[in-house]
Amino acid sequence: MFHVKTQNMFTNILGYPRIGGQRELKKACESYWAGDTSLRNLLTTAQEIRRHNWQLQQQAGIDLIPCNDFSLYDQVLDMCLTVSAIPERFHPLVEQAQLPETDLLFAMARGYQKNGYDITALEMTKWFDTNYHYMVPEFTANQQFNLLSTKIVDECREAIQLGIQPKPVILGPVSFLLSGKEKEAGFNRIDLLKNLLPVYKKLLSALEELNVRHIQFDEPYLVTNLTDTERKAVAYAYGELSRHTPRIHFLLAGYFECYGDNLSTVLALPVQTIHLDLVRCPAQLDDILATDFVKGDKKLSLGVVDGRNIWKNDYEKSLALINKAVAAIGAARVLIAPSCSLLHVPCDLAFETTLQPEIKNWLAFARQKVEEVVALKQLATGSESAGALLADNQQAIASRRSSALIHKQHVKQRTAAVTDADATRKSVFATRRIQQQALLNLPLFPTTTIGSFPQTADIRQLRAQLKKGSITQQQYDNAIKASTQDCVRMQEELGIDVLVHGEFERNDMVEYFGEQLEGYVFTKNGWVQSYGSRCVKPPVVFGDVERKAPMTVEWTRYAQSLTSKPMKGMLTGPVTILQWSFVRDDQPRETTAMQIALAIRDEVCDLEEAGIKVIQIDEPAIREGLPLRKENWSAYLQWAVKAFKVASCSVEDSTQIHTHMCYSEFNDIIDSIAALDADVITIETSRSQMELLDAFADFKYPNEIGPGVYDIHSPRVPTVDEIAHLLEKAAAVIPVEHLWVNPDCGLKTRKWPETRQALEHMVQAAAAARVKA
Ligand code: GLN
Ligand code: ZN
Repeated sequence: MFHVKTQNMFTNILGYPRIGGQRELKKACESYWAGDTSLRNLLTTAQEIRRHNWQLQQQAGIDLIPCNDFSLYDQVLDMCLTVSAIPERFHPLVEQAQLPETDLLFAMARGYQKNGYDITALEMTKWFDTNYHYMVPEFTANQQFNLLSTKIVDECREAIQLGIQPKPVILGPVSFLLSGKEKEAGFNRIDLLKNLLPVYKKLLSALEELNVRHIQFDEPYLVTNLTDTERKAVAYAYGELSRHTPRIHFLLAGYFECYGDNLSTVLALPVQTIHLDLVRCPAQLDDILATDFVKGDKKLSLGVVDGRNIWKNDYEKSLALINKAVAAIGAARVLIAPSCSLLHVPCDLAFETTLQPEIKNWLAFARQKVEEVVALKQLATGSESAGALLADNQQAIASRRSSALIHKQHVKQRTAAVTDADATRKSVFATRRIQQQALLNLPLFPTTTIGSFPQTADIRQLRAQLKKGSITQQQYDNAIKASTQDCVRMQEELGIDVLVHGEFERNDMVEYFGEQLEGYVFTKNGWVQSYGSRCVKPPVVFGDVERKAPMTVEWTRYAQSLTSKPMKGMLTGPVTILQWSFVRDDQPRETTAMQIALAIRDEVCDLEEAGIKVIQIDEPAIREGLPLRKENWSAYLQWAVKAFKVASCSVEDSTQIHTHMCYSEFNDIIDSIAALDADVITIETSRSQMELLDAFADFKYPNEIGPGVYDIHSPRVPTVDEIAHLLEKAAAVIPVEHLWVNPDCGLKTRKWPETRQALEHMVQAAAAARVKA
């Protein structure tokens, strides 16, 4: 390996987690919202987190330390306040109620229902293919902007006062516009660019006054399929901005994918540094180094440390990329960085005090990733302690490559031996349907629910007590059984046709399975921000996945023993388990998906053997797993569909397979949804007034379908008439003999009284529909 004897290579962090190592920000926000703490206390906590993050990076030796990567709620929402993109309905809060900025921010994020106001929040949606959710900006034709919040400048000043030379991170104007939504017809939000740029220029001037030297513009939309107009908008925007403050060094950051067909646009931008996500797209480096780019003087920020996953970096692999770039353009034009903001990984591995040391040695959280970036610079520039650094790293990487904890030949062999026949039902749907009808004998408009029933505080407390050891497993099981029994009895009283056991024994639909599968590990403090104060702690798939023993059979068998009605077995599908976990990076995602699919398949076989005639395999995350670039969709859909089918297709024709998906915007993937070949699919449709059903109707979806007839996100009880009306709408587009009647999703966040009433109304509406049909 060759070393470049130079120190002028920069290290660059794109963003650091802002929730705090012990979720301090979450706790502070929630106690402020509850009225238990003052605004001043909240802002002090926020300031402490920022200071901690900056000093941590400074002490580690990071050259380009981000500021404005902090947010009290969401960085896109912050940008709305910066440029004053505040929807009309919030104006009274400013003009009359004179809310302070932070309260306005929270009102836009969470809605404002007090002091006589009833204002709904901005919509929330997923940030690209992450599990982070941002607040969707709202735009109107010819909207005007002005510089309102001084957050960016304030945070820069704060850093400078602490002796940090900060690099503000700013959501770029094009991605800001594209991340939003037009709230009226007749214009394209990208046309607002000319109104928006003056505000960005003002902001740049203010930063220039603070002597800011580097600015990172995040333009993640540059990795998606853009139109020519949008590409031109990018070129125009950065032309304008760089002309405005030519002395500031612009870093342009796209991440999560390749720039693809936007690459030539990106390379031509008047920016000084271009960031590459070399984890998602290593080939991009070769593409760039093969162009005239090498002759210019622009720099490359090499995103070699994975910002989306928790594995220790393989220094040898990263150094190969770094050295290649250095050889082509020189060390002074190279920056070393994580692939994206570290927002998407937990804060600090040091808090994991109970992880098996062998496994812990394979991991790196945000703080460790900062250290990795610095270590890579030391290795690439050949500074002193480098030898030991590399040896330690190689040893950890080698142990992961060969550890018996990870690698199980019999699992690998079984996964490799999966055939198309394993992923195909014995007969076609029409044949299966006849057998299922004969066995289940269901009425028209059969009623069912999606699985979970209210998870009350009592139930959650039981689990906490069991964990603490203050109750025995026996006591826990008995209490869960009692809840299951009540739940089954209630469904019978209500007259529901296909029952569920209620999922009282489950903490979470992925964690419950992960805890029982080999190859999974759980962290104690591996929290990642999902939205606002909400954090998730994704389980980690570290090794070959295998089911050692049945996971749900006893509970389902017990529930079935309480009733003569069919009891649905309830499982989470392989794609959803994969999507909501940190996944291995040492084999393709599809291989891990297939291993999980085989574990679920075994569970399906055991449920069938235990006499369960209806089995639901939830796949709410199939859509969110779609790759960012359309050209990669079909490969993903192919393995995702296959994984579901491997999980579900072992059964006899007479066993009815259900699947369930939330957010049912399926127009563009409806053929793949149909290819799952589930006998019944239940989807979320009530809030769209059955509009989302059109995709299924237009496609002539061949199997049975249960469009959700009421919204489970609110405690409001729907009337019989409302449900009957939705059923009529559904019956107008789907053959009645294919229709099921069910809520939009699981009922675990609801309370008992409203649940009972709503289901009562649902059953009545179904009965009325039968009479009419
Ligand atoms: N069976 C799960 C439940 O009812 C499904 C949840 C989901 O789709 N997100 O809770
Ligand atoms: Zn759902």
